[in-house]
Amino acid sequence: MKNIDLIEQAAQLLKPHRTTAGRLFGDVGAVVVSGTGKVYAGVCVDTPSWGLCAERNALAAMITQGEYRIKQVVAVWRNEQTGQLHVLPPCGVCREFMRQIDDANLDAEIILDRDRTQTLRELLPAHEWPKPLDL
Ligand SMILES: [Zn+2]
Repeated sequence: MKNIDLIEQAAQLLKPHRTTAGRLFGDVGAVVVSGTGKVYAGVCVDTPSWGLCAERNALAAMITQGEYRIKQVVAVWRNEQTGQLHVLPPCGVCREFMRQIDDANLDAEIILDRDRTQTLRELLPAHEWPKPLDL
């Protein structure tokens, strides 16, 4: 799917709201296109202990349906003060999570802008298990 179409789908998920405990939910939205072409969605859940990024929330929905392969991923956040939409690169935890789901996800396309993508492999260098030291 085109980057702009997925960016717009992720933007549709944005419904930022404060919980009664003051936590911010839903200010980042993510969509994941699975290996079969299905689209899964998620929003961020900011909690004081663990929290959940929008990407991993969408990936959990994908896994719930029995899928593990990722074709494309995008996450977006809108600056409420300026109204501008930003595409966010996945955090380190999400990058490693995608790889650990299935090593083939290293070839997943991570959308970084309207016309820019990089593979997970490019965003996760030195991911291989290291060779033993010769000591
Ligand atoms: Zn993350």
